[in-house]
Order: sequence, then structure tokens, then C-alpha cells
Amino acid sequence: MSVPFEFSDRLKQLPPYLFIEIDKAKRAAMAEGRDVINLGVGDPDQATHKAIIDAMAKAIQDPGNHHYPFDAGVPQLRSEIAKWFQGRFNVALDPNSEILPLIGSKEGLAHFPLAFINPGDKVLLTEPAYPAYQAAVTFAGGKISYLPLKASNDFLPKISDIEEAKNVKAIIICYPNNPTSAVATKKFYEDLVKVCTEKGIIIVSDLAYSEVYYDGVKPPSILEVPGARDVAIEFHSFSKTYYMTGWRLGWACGNAGLVAGLAKVKSNVDSGVFNAVQHAGIAALQMDPVEIEDMRACYQERRDALINGCRSLGWKIDPPKAAFYVWAKVPAKFPDSMTCAKAFLDEADIVLTPGVGFGKSGEGYVRMALTVPVERIHEAVQRMGKVLA
Ligand SMILES: *Cc1c(COP(=O)(O)O)cnc(C)c1O
Repeated sequence: MSVPFEFSDRLKQLPPYLFIEIDKAKRAAMAEGRDVINLGVGDPDQATHKAIIDAMAKAIQDPGNHHYPFDAGVPQLRSEIAKWFQGRFNVALDPNSEILPLIGSKEGLAHFPLAFINPGDKVLLTEPAYPAYQAAVTFAGGKISYLPLKASNDFLPKISDIEEAKNVKAIIICYPNNPTSAVATKKFYEDLVKVCTEKGIIIVSDLAYSEVYYDGVKPPSILEVPGARDVAIEFHSFSKTYYMTGWRLGWACGNAGLVAGLAKVKSNVDSGVFNAVQHAGIAALQMDPVEIEDMRACYQERRDALINGCRSLGWKIDPPKAAFYVWAKVPAKFPDSMTCAKAFLDEADIVLTPGVGFGKSGEGYVRMALTVPVERIHEAVQRMGKVLA
């Protein structure tokens, strides 16, 4: 008989998983053979572009790529990232000291606090949020203080709250935001850089959705703000831009000291990204930008189908400006987000995510991911009619 080993305190400190009930119901529905429309997952439904797959296939044949990767990343990948960054944000990064390839941006975000957060250090997180930040800070022993994101402030944290917070070591932000889809203005970034520079606060910016935007309005990078490079590190991902969630590739960039700290943690934990995957990343960055337009057009069509469909049912939702999530107020007939999600699943075989699962300010909202084909969105709207009637 095996010993009943106890999880460490740091694992036990993680909040309980709030989606257990919904997950169970979803699995049961699928096992019964019901035709479930899953608007719950933030994982694109499309295949990775052929040019990227071909580059990987070629790179994998080269025995030179079969060894431990370079700790700092393949030099050509770093220089391609610098070139891409210059073209996209008009910011010149030094590929040697200001860019670090990652095994997905989540990996980097999870490891970053280990480099700069001591036990008891205070870290500001916004909520509702992507759950990985909370886990990352908790694993490093940091103390979390939450900044609520409210519609009344465009789902941005209040600068005055950051000004008034004491002994803060770092803040983690994410715009375009998961789950609210909110976008930060350049002005917000300027104000944030100003207050964090004055107070010596590290800014961690998660820009996983930089290329998923609508109506041609490109979300900015915090590194566009003069002086940001003194206090900020930004995390980027190939996952959403290039339909590469399974490949595990991203990068960190910005302040050289912050990048170096993360690199030091990583050199003690993993040994970098498989070189062949890094070559696939080079091919991705070299792709014709027109192919990325197709990705945006696809989400835009789905977004408009869902927003217009819901509106025709009397459910008014603000269309997202970026990311592939629709953050919708729970219809008045439901007391809360969990009840709403349960009803959609039980009565219409539609999976959506209750907002409260992302933090207490997420209560009153549900998140719908635009990661199913537009025909399925039309079908979902049809079914919603029954639930909302
Ligand atoms: C999808 C996502 C990421 C990307 O993670 P990868 O590890 O690069 O796949 C990062 N942050 C947020 C908020 C996300 O939704």
C-alpha cells in the first residue's frame, strides 16, 4: 500500500478548483453522446499553419537540433523576435540581453516570481484573472493583494489604488485581458510606468493576445512607453497568434536585469525550448502577415455572429475589442454566474465559463470563447433562445 503523501503547503494554498461541478456535468453530457458546444476553452480550434509545420519537419531532421538547446535560445529566433517587435511596436530590443525564448509564456510567468519575489513580498494581481499568476506568486511565497477590475473603469486597475498600496514588489497585468477582453490604452501604460518607477515596482505584462484584435485597432505594448524598460518585463506567446498552443513557445522581453533573473531560474529548472520548435518559431515570425489577418477575420466573424445573435435574443453584450473571449453580463433571470453556466449546459448543451471562477469580481459575468466554427455559434444562439425564454 502506498504512503498517503501530503501535498506541500504551497500546493495546498492554491484555491479550490471552482469548475469541478461544471466539468463533471460537461463530461457526463459528452458521455451521454449529447452534442455539446464548448465555448469554455481558450484553445484555438484551427490547425497550425503549414509553413510552420514544414519548418519543424525540416529542423527535426537535423541532428544538430537533437541536443540540449542553447539556454538563451537560438540566436536567429531572438533576432527574428527583435525584428518582429520593431516592426509591430516600433521598439528596438537587444536580442542578446532583452529577449528570452520560453516554453510557452505560461512557463515564464510561472517561473518569474521565483527570481524576484521573496517569501512575504507583496504582489498586486488584478481580478478576475488568468489563474496562472496566482499560482506563480503563491509558489514563490509571495503575498497577493487584489485589484478589482470593474466595467466602470474599463476593466483597468485604478492607478490611485497602486499609488496607495504599500511595500509592493511587483504587479502583474494582462491586456488584452483574459477573461474580460479589455484593452489597455497607451495612457494607462504611461500612468502605470510612472507610478511603478516612482515606487520601484516591477511590472509584469502578459501580452499573449497582442495579435488577436478587431476592427484593425492594434493593442499597444507597455514597452512603447519611454522608461518602461527600466521597470517592465513583457510576456509574449506564439500560442494564440499562430495557432500553436500545443507547441509550447513564447518569449519574455524588456528590462535586461529582469530577463536575466528569469533566465537564471530557467537554467536551473529546464534547459530551454527544443531547438526544432525554435526553428518553427522563426518560420512563424517570417510568415506573410496576411495569413495572420485570416485569423483575425475568422474571430471577427464569430464575434459578430455571437454578439448579434445574443442581441436578437435580448441579451445585450459589449463586443470585445481584442482577444477571443466574450465577457457577458449574466442574464437577469439567473442569480449568479454558476447557475447561469449550469442552465446553459443542462438545457442547451452549451459550455461557458462562470466568471466567478476567475475571481470574485468576475461574479455576474460569464465568459464565452470564440474557439468554435461560426456555424456552431449560430447553432449555440438558436439553443440559447430556449434557455433565455
Ligand atoms: C493563452 C494565454 C497565455 C499563453 O500561454 P502559453 O503558455 O504561451 O500557451 C498566457 N496568458 C494568458 C492570459 C492566456 O490566456
